[in-house]
This record gives sequence, structure tokens and C-alpha cells, in this order.
Amino acid sequence: MEKFLAELQPENLMEHMRVLCHNIGPRPSASAKEKQAADYVEKTVRSLGVSSVRRQPFKSHTSAGWPIILSFLLGLLASMAAILGGWWGKLIGGVLLWGSAYIAWMAFRVRPLLFQKWLAWGKSQNVIATIPAAHQAKRTIYLVGHLDSQKQRFLFPSSHPRWMKADSTFPILFGLLAGGLLLAEFWLRSAGAAWWHYLLGAPYLYGLWAALYDETQPHVEGANDNASAVSVLLAIAQALKSRPLQNSEVVLLFTGCEEVGCVGLENYLKEHRPARNSTFWIDVEIVGQGRLCYITRHGISYLTEYEPHPYMVELAEQAARRHPDLGVIGKAMLSLDEIATLSQAGYKSICISGYDDRGFWPNWHRLSDRLENIDPGTLSHAAGYTWGLMEEIDRQG
Ligand SMILES: [Zn+2]
Repeated sequence: MEKFLAELQPENLMEHMRVLCHNIGPRPSASAKEKQAADYVEKTVRSLGVSSVRRQPFKSHTSAGWPIILSFLLGLLASMAAILGGWWGKLIGGVLLWGSAYIAWMAFRVRPLLFQKWLAWGKSQNVIATIPAAHQAKRTIYLVGHLDSQKQRFLFPSSHPRWMKADSTFPILFGLLAGGLLLAEFWLRSAGAAWWHYLLGAPYLYGLWAALYDETQPHVEGANDNASAVSVLLAIAQALKSRPLQNSEVVLLFTGCEEVGCVGLENYLKEHRPARNSTFWIDVEIVGQGRLCYITRHGISYLTEYEPHPYMVELAEQAARRHPDLGVIGKAMLSLDEIATLSQAGYKSICISGYDDRGFWPNWHRLSDRLENIDPGTLSHAAGYTWGLMEEIDRQG
């Protein structure tokens, strides 16, 4: 592929990787380390002579675990209400179970929940850099990459990712069905405690224990998730300096607090309200290992799947065909990412990503997500493919 673009070569990308992974290290959402990463990208793009660079500060909660902990807690309380609460306990239990299912459903679609505002005591930021087109800009291409890194989480993904969609469907479906049964008992004026009311709490108790255990885990280095994307975006900024796109301005959007529910992107959309018809969004996520794909279907449960915009899939396909040496394919992935927010808001978006031999995100939310496991060749191919897709978009009339 574009071997002539020196900026997208492995050595240059790995320089950014070393700063993000070793000099800075794990970057918890809304932490001083996340801010350090924001400082680094701001300094780097400014040093290229990009004049339009700004920071968007915002507040956020600091753990992805809260919604799911609350969801399991409500399920457990529902079981207790059904056992101890008599006739009214069935009504309370039913409502709590539906609430539990609702919170899980919202969390797995990355929709903000009301109570997250009350927990938003962390300070975070987006860094936004705009690189103009060579000629009159007809459109804006957004490149999105998040600055923060996640905790090690054994629930997310589970150690058997093959089963994770079924696992994550369970709290939604189970909460709905069991809640419906309790409400039917209330309707039928049943006041006693049945055997199944005792069993009801068991999965929630286990879930709560596992979710709380995940909260005790350290943050990962986040080499693949998502220093890889930040490096790709920085390298592309360098390449654009000497070779701007013809008719597309490019906005590099480095987001904060993606790992706790795409809070940075949510804040960006709220404040800037970018036009839907003239913007094209490429989300770069986990591109430093394995082989590369553009994701054709996302989601971590069967009830919360989402898809990229069909026009973006078409363009991604064309870019892959134009650069067969990169081996990029379209692929459904077990994934939760910023496309959830973008596609629900009606934006033309697609995610470029890596996958391992089993077809999953390599080292996702595990301490093994470290710099020494990054393949510089994959990283360079990801930068090349992102560039190819940008050119494909730029060619549109
Ligand atoms: Zn990520």
C-alpha cells in the first residue's frame, strides 16, 4: 500500500506507542494519566503547525462498573422483596426487576443513565484538532480514538467470549420475565413466598460479587485498547500536513472517558452538533494486533446489537478492495465502542479494528494488553487502511 507515506510506517507509530504505554502508562478515565495523554496529543499536533486545536473539558463518572452493579443490586433486592414483602413485595420486586433489566439494556447500548450525572465527579477532556482540505471542503471526516484505558475486567469480556452475548442477554431477558411473573402474582393477589423467589436472587448475587471483584482490578496499559488508535491518528495528522485531502477537512477527535460509556463523544456531539449529511466518521479501535477488519455488526448481547451506516460499509469495502495487500475484511465483532453512540445519533460511521485467531479483540480488558504484545506491522497496516478509507471518502462527489 502507500509505502511512500513515511509517517504511517511502523517506526513512527511505535514512537507514539512508547510514550503512551511506557512514559505515561495506564490511563484510567478522568485521571491525571488520561490528562497527560491529552497533553501529549495536543503538544504533538501543535508541533505540526495545526492551528485549530482545542480542548473540551467535561465531567464524568469514573467506572464502567456502576450501572451493572446497580442492575444486579436491584435484582437481589427484588428477590428479597418477593420473599419478605408479602403481596406488596410482589409489586415492588416486579418493578425492581424491570428496572434491573432496563439498566442492563441501557448500559449495553451505551446510553447514558440519569444516575451517572450524580456520580460525575471526575474531570476529563476531549482534544479536537482540525486539518483543512487542500481546496474548498465539501465534507468533514472525523477520526475518533479514545485516550483512556479500562480496568482488567473478567465479566467484560468473560473468559469464554464465545458465550458472552448469551451471558449478557441473560440479565435483560431474565429480569423482564421474572419481573413479569412477580407482577402477575401481584395481580393474582398472591402473598406467600414460593421456592423460586429464593432462587431468583442467586444469579444476581453471583453477578454482584463478580462485578464488585472487577472493581478491585488494576487498570490495563491499554496498548491495543486504545493507544494503538491514538498513535494512528497522530501519524495521520503528520501525513496530512504534507498531503491534505482534496475536498475534505479532517477532524481528529481524541476522546476522554470512552471506557465508562463514551462520555467524551457524547459531550462532543451535544456541544458541537455536527451536521449529519456532510460528516463521515471513522472510529479506530484496538488496531495493534492480529488481522484487520471494518466491523459490520457490533454488540455484546443479542438484544443490543447495532450496525454501521450501510454507505460507510460500501466505502470500507471499496477501500479494502483497492488495497488487497492489507487483508482487511468486513466482520461482525463482539464489541462495544463509540459506533454505538454515533449510529444511534444517526451519523455515517464505521469502526476499523483488529481481531485474533479466534475472531475476538486481542487481550481486551486484560493486563496482557501491553506494548510488547503489539505488532508494529498490524499497526502500520491499520494506519494505511484508515488513510485509504479517508481517500475513498474524499473521492466522493
Ligand atoms: Zn476501546
